[in-house]
Amino acid sequence: MAHIVIMGAGIGGMPAAYEMREMLPTEHRITVVNSVDYFQFVPSNPWVAVGWRTREAVTLPIAPYLTRKKIAFIGKAVTHIDAVASQLTLTGGDTLDYDYLLIATGPKLAFDEVAGAGPLASGGGGLTHSVCHVDHAVALFAEYEEFLKNPGPIVVGAMPGASCFGPAYEFTMILDTDLRRRKLRDKVPMTYVTSEPYIGHLGLGGVGDSKSMLESEFRNRDVKWITNAKTTEVQPGKLFATQLDDFGKPVKDHEVPFKLAMMLPAFKGVDAVAAVPNLCNPRGMVLIDEFQRSKAYRNIYSAGVCVAIPPVEVTPVPTGTPKTGYMIESMMTAICHNIASDLAGQPATAKGTWNAVCLADMGDTGAAFVALPQIPPRNVNWFKKGKWVHLAKIAYEKYFIRKLKKGTSEPIYEKYVMGLLGINRLNK
Ligand SMILES: Cc1cc2nc3c(=O)[nH]c(=O)nc-3n(C[C@H](O)[C@H](O)[C@H](O)COP(=O)(O)OP(=O)(O)OC[C@H]3O[C@@H](n4cnc5c(N)ncnc54)[C@H](O)[C@@H]3O)c2cc1C
Repeated sequence: MAHIVIMGAGIGGMPAAYEMREMLPTEHRITVVNSVDYFQFVPSNPWVAVGWRTREAVTLPIAPYLTRKKIAFIGKAVTHIDAVASQLTLTGGDTLDYDYLLIATGPKLAFDEVAGAGPLASGGGGLTHSVCHVDHAVALFAEYEEFLKNPGPIVVGAMPGASCFGPAYEFTMILDTDLRRRKLRDKVPMTYVTSEPYIGHLGLGGVGDSKSMLESEFRNRDVKWITNAKTTEVQPGKLFATQLDDFGKPVKDHEVPFKLAMMLPAFKGVDAVAAVPNLCNPRGMVLIDEFQRSKAYRNIYSAGVCVAIPPVEVTPVPTGTPKTGYMIESMMTAICHNIASDLAGQPATAKGTWNAVCLADMGDTGAAFVALPQIPPRNVNWFKKGKWVHLAKIAYEKYFIRKLKKGTSEPIYEKYVMGLLGINRLNK
């Protein structure tokens, strides 16, 4: 009998728990450990930040759904991993032994890398907001409601080293849509400030025609932009950024005024994971082989935002590669197969497809991209815009949350619709 512990119950960890349960005989125990007792559907946070969703609509309690499927749940953070003894220490000092550990802890939000940035509650300086966590989005909505009484300039964007750009574009367009509906858009100059070398880079070197399409979208929506921007500091009402040229030389210093700012931070690995000797790269991201297994500890696997992936290309201001929902689930499927093989005394063979598939809402319309594989040249490389994406994004939210409530990992819809797009979870 083996004990498999999944650390992190997010977009990756929850489906992994269900899939593992479906795949493994019941003699094997599965325990999920998560720092809080609820699941949040992170992709909906930009909607929460403008009041289009409530916190309740995009979160759910974890314990009832997992225990129904005979998966144990502990709502505490892991504070220490003894990878040699295969033992976790949890908040409060309890310990938990494992035979296999699946690390799915998502990112530590590195707000501290830019003075003044990020919510105070997450170790930031309190001058910019975030949509990375539902609590951040709730706090942003509270300030947005005040802002609406006396509007002014808005800054949205991504800090040096950021890897997740889609939500920054999404939030810009969602704000634009919301302000237009309120007939306040004329009072709000908007600037998009990003570490990407060009609009539509997305940490992926662009996808299809993403550059022209997103530039055109920004022009149509009166959003100004600053690319190759190394944001250095935030002061009350002012964001300071140095713009670099293609060779990395400073060309211009910007002081961008704002009344409301949302800047996505760079990601690092969470402390308990980053502290394990030889497990991670210098940013605390888990180093894995092609089978999602730690290069240093053979009974540790990892997937999701917490794994180390090299950037698609070197950019003047550092950018990282995004890890999107379907890619994360594909990594999880590979891990479930590989742990099952290991238990059966067989070698690991399953590899995730690591396809970047993303639906970005723009409030009234949306943009979807598919990059297969992630690094160019690609077999599938398209970026399309349309109202159908806005609707598909709503469907994705409803569908994912329903899937977690039902306790299934890959229902029929996903198998066939994603199959039609030529997207499979495993590399055949
Ligand atoms: C605002 C935003 C919007 C996004 N929108 C999309 C989108 O529309 N489509 C898409 O494909 N991708 C999107 N992404 C990218 C990606 O899908 C998400 O970041 C996703 O949440 C990552 O999943 P994950 O499982 O790796 O981490 P998370 O979902 O962040 O889950 C990590 C879990 O680990 C827990 N944890 C952390 N530390 C510990 C610890 N020490 N002990 C125990 N538990 C711990 C956390 O509490 C959390 O529950 C978005 C990302 C962001 C930030």
